[in-house]
Amino acid sequence: MNMNHHSDDASQLTRLEPLLKAQKNAFASTPMPELNERLRRLNLLHNALLAYREQIYTAIDADFSGRSSAETEMAEILPLLEGIAYYRKRLKKFMKPQRRHASLTIAPGKAEVHYQPLGVVGIVTPWNFPFFLALSPLIGALAAGNRAMIKTSEFAPASGELLRTILASVFQEDEVAVVTGGVEVATEFTRLPFDHLVFTGSTPVGKIVMRAAAENLTPVTLELGGKSPAIIHDEFPIGEAARRLAFGKCMNAGQICVSPDYVLCPRNKVHEFSSLFIDAVEQAYPTLKENPDYTAIISERQKNRLERYLNDARAQGAQLMTAGSSNENLRNTRKMPMTLVLDTTEEMLVMQEEIFGPILPVIPYDSIEEALDYVAARERPLALYYFDWNQKRADHILKTTHSGGVCINDSLSHVPADDIPFGGIGPSGMGHYHGEEGFRNFSKAKGVIRKGRINTAALVAPPWGNLMYRGLMWFMEKKYRPVKIK
Ligand code: NAD
Repeated sequence: MNMNHHSDDASQLTRLEPLLKAQKNAFASTPMPELNERLRRLNLLHNALLAYREQIYTAIDADFSGRSSAETEMAEILPLLEGIAYYRKRLKKFMKPQRRHASLTIAPGKAEVHYQPLGVVGIVTPWNFPFFLALSPLIGALAAGNRAMIKTSEFAPASGELLRTILASVFQEDEVAVVTGGVEVATEFTRLPFDHLVFTGSTPVGKIVMRAAAENLTPVTLELGGKSPAIIHDEFPIGEAARRLAFGKCMNAGQICVSPDYVLCPRNKVHEFSSLFIDAVEQAYPTLKENPDYTAIISERQKNRLERYLNDARAQGAQLMTAGSSNENLRNTRKMPMTLVLDTTEEMLVMQEEIFGPILPVIPYDSIEEALDYVAARERPLALYYFDWNQKRADHILKTTHSGGVCINDSLSHVPADDIPFGGIGPSGMGHYHGEEGFRNFSKAKGVIRKGRINTAALVAPPWGNLMYRGLMWFMEKKYRPVKIK
């Protein structure tokens, strides 16, 4: 780390507490922003995304040393615009207090739930989708009436700077603020007493963040990683599976939290799958080095990590199948070809660590039960992909497996789907954003009882044993008889 980073970190560190204080004060003065104010904030963000579109492509391209504007459009800008449009349309309904059932013990009275903004939401982001993963939680937080502080990733500095410029162009710092800097800043950031903290990143760091938040009893939404399996049923056309998986796996060169991490393939189809998968990749990306469509690896460190996985697999006897021509010398670039790993063992790093890059192990199975047992024996993944035209069998998979989300006959597409929640389970995370669940996640569901002028409670009150109390007990005894257990 050079001196500039140090001085930037130092200045960011001193900003943290005053920023949070300013945001908390501003929130306290307008604790329940009206619908129009929330729509205004979302619309400002919408306009800023349109105004800065080209600059966003360029900043991400610079951070990755090569990422296609089409991927940025498909995976960052469009889903953000759609996410804003989603809340714009439904916010009024989500904000409405709900009437709930008022039980006899509170009668006469009304029961309601009010969805109240929490206050200031902290958002910690990774480098792989530096705009989408910062702004998608922000959209939910703003829709629910909160203010927010965003900590960008030190590994996507151009994007972090641009994000700061964009948000500063439309928001006051006490509404939305951006903090840049390295691990030291991130550590202090997560120690701040936010009203809610969203962390997107790796599972090990997620544990550290949750520990820090526990000190303040700050509720967390953890969007973590893990190994998301793709299971291909024996009856599913193998070429179709190969093409669909190749599309998802190649996006961002596999640097996606929900990227298919390994494939469970019927044993007799492993060979066919592998060659069709490689064909599909080569068709989409005939060359790599000068091809702007194929994303590079974010850093030398990440590239070394992925190469270590491949060397380790090779040394332990795996077969590697690499897409693209071996004539292309990628040595001095950060591009890395898509590689299938066959004949894996559990000891290999590719089967122990989340891959997060263009490497895909293909694991043979003999029966679908065996494939499902394999998944069940491992940590609950962020996503599960199942390829099968048979809806009954697919429904069975939905009922018997646990994962953050599922795509049947596809991969990745549950992330940009606005009307369903997104989030992990267990080691792949907790809490949700997107959709109605996202709005609720960033709101306090406050239970409210309203009583009127008539107060029957006074009639039941002590001295106990009075007539009203005995009447109530008589009624309740009739209501609550033992039930028959079938
Ligand atoms: P990371 O965990 O290394 O870093 C994420 C963020 O945490 C960064 O902003 C970093 O500054 C901060 N950080 C690092 N150390 C910290 C500490 N000790 N205390 C507090 N904050 C700290 O993750 P990454 O390499 O940026 O991203 C890759 C990981 O993120 C993968 O595991 C991937 O699966 C996961 N991910 C998950 C989702 C999701 O939505 N579930 C999305 C994208 C990425």
